[in-house]
Amino acid sequence: MGSAMRNDAKRISAYSLSYEELEESLVRMGREKWRVAQVWQWLYGGKADGWDDMANLPKDLRVDLADAMDALDGTARYVETAQEGGGTAKLLLQMHDGELVETVVIPSRARRTVCVSSQVGCAFGCAFCASGMGGVKRDLESGEIVAQVMRAMQAEGARPNNIVFMGMGEPFANYDNALRAARIMNDNRGLGIGARRITFSTCGVVPGIKRLAGEGTQFELSVSLHAPSQELREKIMPVARRWGLDELMGACRAYTAETNRIITFEYTLIEGFNDGAEHARMLIGLLKGLKCRVNLIPLNPVEEFEGKAPAEAVCEEFLKTVERAGINATLRRSKGRGVDASCGQLRRRRITRQP
Ligand code: SAH
Repeated sequence: MGSAMRNDAKRISAYSLSYEELEESLVRMGREKWRVAQVWQWLYGGKADGWDDMANLPKDLRVDLADAMDALDGTARYVETAQEGGGTAKLLLQMHDGELVETVVIPSRARRTVCVSSQVGCAFGCAFCASGMGGVKRDLESGEIVAQVMRAMQAEGARPNNIVFMGMGEPFANYDNALRAARIMNDNRGLGIGARRITFSTCGVVPGIKRLAGEGTQFELSVSLHAPSQELREKIMPVARRWGLDELMGACRAYTAETNRIITFEYTLIEGFNDGAEHARMLIGLLKGLKCRVNLIPLNPVEEFEGKAPAEAVCEEFLKTVERAGINATLRRSKGRGVDASCGQLRRRRITRQP
């Protein structure tokens, strides 16, 4: 399947359609409305790779569907899984045009988290991030995002219950498709993942934060802050020159006021750069009075960036300082190191080591 059949770039994936849109498509094909429930069940049951697997659908319907849209095998083809001891697995999936996308499955006691990609590559070029190192190739369709969760569900043999848009790409640079994908994952006739268990993570694309504030949804927002001042942030995140720290924090405050929801700030600790007591104090000042929590993540080393993670004790000290100021904070042990599972690393290894 895939590229050979798929000359028409406009061909749509069934996973890009809402329940109602699939129903409309079926009606347009001259089918009964109730067929939608049956097809939808196959799509989100996780057992069917292609239309031909949907055994109780009439043969001619399967043919019509195959003419009109792609099932899972035409949307995201399974390539390989890299497995780590702790249960973290990284899937490499191939899109219809041959592009590779990473999806990470992170099981823990309480949750089955899937980390999805929203773009092939990334345009934002954060200094420490492997995804941005080759620029952005294209946006992912909403169906290509949803299909990642289906592949993760197949790999796990269980339905995920937590989704984070923390794979490759910037979800707010592909806002419509990311939001559409989240809504489809949230539909309780299908995957039924709770809105509060779906998190958009942004490097600081202010218009996206503003739009999300106005959606009236319960989706979660995470902001990759990584530095407590404009001067430092600019050094590692070019996006800070487009939307400065003041503007970003203003948008975050407006977001919490409008939605009454908490924002999670991601802060990657980099030795000698943003890990000192003075940085912790600046961070505290920045977040004062804001409904938020802070996730401290020791830098996951990447070849192309010379920074290192601080010593454990330095990370702990930073955590304590932030907590003493009354900010809810956690220090994360990076999972997935063994599978190059930090944002874009697996795909990068593939495309740089293959001629
Ligand atoms: N573009 C979005 C989502 C993808 S990145 C964003 O920037 O939020 C997901 C998270 O991984 C971000 O917080 C990003 O800064 C972080 N990240 C990327 N490379 C990393 C590395 N080498 N070590 C630690 N965190 C990293």
